[in-house]
Amino acid sequence: MMADQRPEEAKARLKALLCDLMLIPGLSGHEGRIRRHIAGLLKALGLSTRTDRLGNLIATSEGDHGAPSVMLFTHMDQLGLVVRKIEADGFIRVERLGGVPERALPSQEVLICVGEGRDRPGVIANKSHHATTPEEKYKVVPYQDLYIDAGFAGRDEVLAAGIDIGSPVVYRPHWVELSQDRIAGTSVDDRAGCAVIVEAARQLMARPKRPTVHFVFSVQEEFNLRGALTAAQALQPDIAIQIDLLLATDTPDMAYRGDVKLGGGPVMSLYSFHGRGTLNGTIPHPALVSLFDGASRHIDIPLQRSAHTGALTDSSYVQLVGQGVASIDLGFPMRYSHSSLEVCDLGDLEGLTTLLVEGIASIDKRFSLDRDDYE
Ligand SMILES: [Zn+2]
Repeated sequence: MMADQRPEEAKARLKALLCDLMLIPGLSGHEGRIRRHIAGLLKALGLSTRTDRLGNLIATSEGDHGAPSVMLFTHMDQLGLVVRKIEADGFIRVERLGGVPERALPSQEVLICVGEGRDRPGVIANKSHHATTPEEKYKVVPYQDLYIDAGFAGRDEVLAAGIDIGSPVVYRPHWVELSQDRIAGTSVDDRAGCAVIVEAARQLMARPKRPTVHFVFSVQEEFNLRGALTAAQALQPDIAIQIDLLLATDTPDMAYRGDVKLGGGPVMSLYSFHGRGTLNGTIPHPALVSLFDGASRHIDIPLQRSAHTGALTDSSYVQLVGQGVASIDLGFPMRYSHSSLEVCDLGDLEGLTTLLVEGIASIDKRFSLDRDDYE
């Protein structure tokens, strides 16, 4: 195989993985289908998996026992809605699960998840334009007032279809290929992270020298950010590397926020903080900043930097396990977070995968997590 064909082949695998994974619904707390699919992918790589009681999928690849152990993780759940009330006339009211943007909801197609082969499509109603008053025209409708039209004529029909209070609802899973290797899809957050870790697992397994790596596909991140905690508590890793989107700031409405470009390569978060309701964030361990800075120079892949308030990931909680887990958020640039079509770049996913493999494979018994060696 020509060496310079490898990135293209990895990119093709990442595209196939991402697009398949985005078509499988997995609302927070209802990850069974997506978990079984990912377990199958890992099995095909020769990795056996286990599932903890919360639902996290874990696969361990034993490596150099003298080196610090790594938990490489990403969330497999997605945000969405939950059936709150079924009206007598068959319309369905919903509750939000996760950071669902209300202004992006009307007219969206949704999938009411009943079970494989039994899911029902629906549309979030948007009041007929010809009856919309001037005051309503620029107003965001609160989710409490929205309803789903799934074509049912009455409550009995809804119940007979297997839909009940508590049923999960997600944006209709789909994707579309844009120009320049860019993909718009449902739940790029964080099926792109899942695709990257599956591909990174494939490449890491081929490395003769590597530390022990636990690949973790976590649950309920979009719900309460703490799903990965139970996995970290059980595994007690020395290092945790979390993979998720980082906000691309190269659109007209985001330019003042930072310098992260879609297509500009993987991103390292130097600071995240969320002060609304949940007071937490991640300031990465300096050993890991140094590790991935060095790896990016070594393989000549640009590494973008992000410092951002308003978002956080479950690494915020994982870092507090045991005597402290050296943690870092790495990610891919993404546009339009939490809307029904999020956009990422396949080249960024490939770059992120390569960076992860290089960085992790270089962790050996000399790798220090002593802060005084860095600060
Ligand atoms: Zn995410």
